Amino acid sequence: MKTTHSAGHLTDRLPVIAYLGVGSNLGDPVRNCRDALRELSSLKNIQVLRRSSLYRTEPVGDTRQDWFVNGVLEIRTTFTARQLLKAAQWAEQALGRVRAEKWGPRAIDIDILLVGQEIVNTDALVVPHPEMHRRRFVLEPMNEIAPYVIHPLYGVSMKGLLDRLVDEHAVERIDAGW
Ligand code: ADP
Ligand code: MG
Repeated sequence: MKTTHSAGHLTDRLPVIAYLGVGSNLGDPVRNCRDALRELSSLKNIQVLRRSSLYRTEPVGDTRQDWFVNGVLEIRTTFTARQLLKAAQWAEQALGRVRAEKWGPRAIDIDILLVGQEIVNTDALVVPHPEMHRRRFVLEPMNEIAPYVIHPLYGVSMKGLLDRLVDEHAVERIDAGW
């Protein structure tokens, strides 16, 4: 049987399932998370499959700042991890994020948590996100929508990581959706 391949097919990437963490603690945080979801959904390389609940979360690091609203998104994407970071930064800029101090207050923060089972370790990008397994505000929403997904470095599911987690920072599910 004759098969034909256009050049495009050779470079097209198969879609992978990825997880993005979204957070905000400035202005109207729920609205900022909704806006981030809208911006990300508008990209043709990203299809949002699932969204966690939104959570009110106690700040980690500088505890004098306001509580955050956090949630995670499950997406299907043909972006590479590196392109996903660019897309996340583009969305942050589109929502008017100004460069702020690390750990400090921000209108919107979009983190690349997982990209399939890929492992990336560069100056600009570390995937899986190096803090995700230590953060209740990531693992609670991950456990909600992806409890059986395995962390590619630790070989433990999101539920397993949450069960083992020692993080006393409060994480409370809120009724507002996004
Ligand atoms: P925070 O660490 O509080 O999220 P920023 O959002 O300002 O702070 O991110 C700082 C830098 O972290 C970004 O410029 C980006 O290059 C880098 N970075 C490394 N790995 C990741 C990742 N998995 N997701 C998002 N940013 C990442
Ligand atoms: Mg970030």
